Amino acid sequence: MSPIDKHHTSAQQNDFDAIIIGAGFAGMYMLHKLRGQGLRVRVYERGDDVGGTWYWNRYPGARCDLESMDYSYSFDDDLQQDWDWQEKYGTQPELLKYASHVADRFKLRSDIVFKTKIRSARYNKEAQAWTITTDQGDAVSTTHLILATGNLSTPQLPKIKGVESFSGRRLHTGAWPHDPVSFKGRRVGIIGTGSSAIQAIPIIADQAEHLTVFQRTANFSIPARHGPLSKADSKAYKARYTEHRATAKETPFGIAKYKTPTRSCWDVDDTERQNIYEKAWAEGGQALLFAFTDLLTDSKANETAAEFVRERIRKAVNDPAVAELLCPKDHPIGTKRLCLDSSYYETYNRGNVSLIDVKNTPISHIEADAVVVGHDRYEIDDLVLATGYDAMTGVARDMDIVGEGGMDLARLWAGGPQTYLGLMVANFPNMYMITGPQSPGVKSQMILSIEHHVELIAAIIKKAQIPGSATVRVEQDAQDGWVEHNNAVADSTLYTEAASWYMGSNIPGKAQVFMPYVGGVKRYRAYCDEVINDGWRGLKFSA
Ligand code: NAP
Repeated sequence: MSPIDKHHTSAQQNDFDAIIIGAGFAGMYMLHKLRGQGLRVRVYERGDDVGGTWYWNRYPGARCDLESMDYSYSFDDDLQQDWDWQEKYGTQPELLKYASHVADRFKLRSDIVFKTKIRSARYNKEAQAWTITTDQGDAVSTTHLILATGNLSTPQLPKIKGVESFSGRRLHTGAWPHDPVSFKGRRVGIIGTGSSAIQAIPIIADQAEHLTVFQRTANFSIPARHGPLSKADSKAYKARYTEHRATAKETPFGIAKYKTPTRSCWDVDDTERQNIYEKAWAEGGQALLFAFTDLLTDSKANETAAEFVRERIRKAVNDPAVAELLCPKDHPIGTKRLCLDSSYYETYNRGNVSLIDVKNTPISHIEADAVVVGHDRYEIDDLVLATGYDAMTGVARDMDIVGEGGMDLARLWAGGPQTYLGLMVANFPNMYMITGPQSPGVKSQMILSIEHHVELIAAIIKKAQIPGSATVRVEQDAQDGWVEHNNAVADSTLYTEAASWYMGSNIPGKAQVFMPYVGGVKRYRAYCDEVINDGWRGLKFSA
């Protein structure tokens, strides 16, 4: 009898009430919440400690692009009052320290199995159980299965001939070594110019003998205006924390200071518009995108903001040809994740940095000691791959998840994700996703969206504990309606015009479907509240 069969014969005797996959911010809070409801819970985590994104992304310059006072847990007032952020935007080491502090504070590690990857999850209708197998050879059964696996957790090697044959150090930003990496005296090549690269490039350039940046698509980046967080600012914010957290839920992005815009770009004249953009640029962060109502729905309005940023790039970069190469012209601003930087564009004024356009002439192959572009060979000692992730649905493709009737999640999603509220999937009973595709997760302050989903899942599970309600299924019609709504909202914006990881465009062969919900946090939460008030419309609880 295989371990899977063995577990399926023991109906009602599942090893756990809930298994959570992933011990990042989502998995940690889910564990805390369900333990509080008296459940027997186990978390599996492939890393050797908590922290998720902030455990893996140890590349130079890694820090959050949302301010620490916002990007932090709100569920426990003592925690948010006690913890002191040192800088405006949390650095990776500080965020990891915070994750570790939360794990200690709530004694989470005793229910987390580290260094263990989930191989498969299969639902058995008779046993009313999910059976999970791990790369350590274990098989355990659970009544509820929660994917807290993150949206950007499957790093992608670029599909470039010879990438495996590079004989120097090859480093992916999303799987960075734990020991410090020095680039002193080294010739470094970096492929990619997304958020990760834009943070890493100025720091690597500072150390390396020479840095060659291979750029396929130029990205819009805004100064972060990063700096230390003063004790006085922190104290003032904390004094009104409850109010800030409540206001955040009423905004599109889940950040109190980025309120829903009220004016069209065309309500003001050119001078006023320019002044508004100048002010947003001086403030830094994502403020620019919240200046007007129509920046992400009207191409001409968007172009006013895009050209404003291009002008700033031209001012920052001394060589006009390099500046022009750095000016994004193939997608509306904001339709790919807006990057935040500290002196990114200015880095190209250094004598030890070269920018190579690999859009017109792609990288043809990689050799043991060089990146080859057309007839040019760039010799390097270290190759940094800032080439991104199989985003949002990568985990489903990575794991073998099989629901009712042998339904395979990867196959079901081959044409794009199908979910109900980004939270559950029809034919996958008692399986939940924290900030899954078709929820606002990646298009919002992530921890706020994580907390929302954790609380919804905890409430569903609580209802499932009522006798006769143990199995929770999504009704197919409800799911179809949500998928349609998600697509309609995306189609009413400019988002679908960009070849982005939101669209799956960065992965050769992946379906090109816009994955996040872009109706905003406020609208999404209102929709979820309606679902609850309507007796969990779209969910069916049965014995
Ligand atoms: P990304 O945005 O997907 O960027 C990947 C980069 O690699 C792109 O420039 C891409 O070019 C390039 N690339 C991929 N394959 C290539 C190839 N074969 N040849 C040449 N170039 C290639 O990945 P990321 O920078 O890791 O960021 C992913 C997301 O993580 C961000 O959008 C953000 O949401 C999050 N993140 C956040 C922070 C933060 O909070 N500050 C920091 C880092 C990441 P194309 O654009 O042409 O495909």
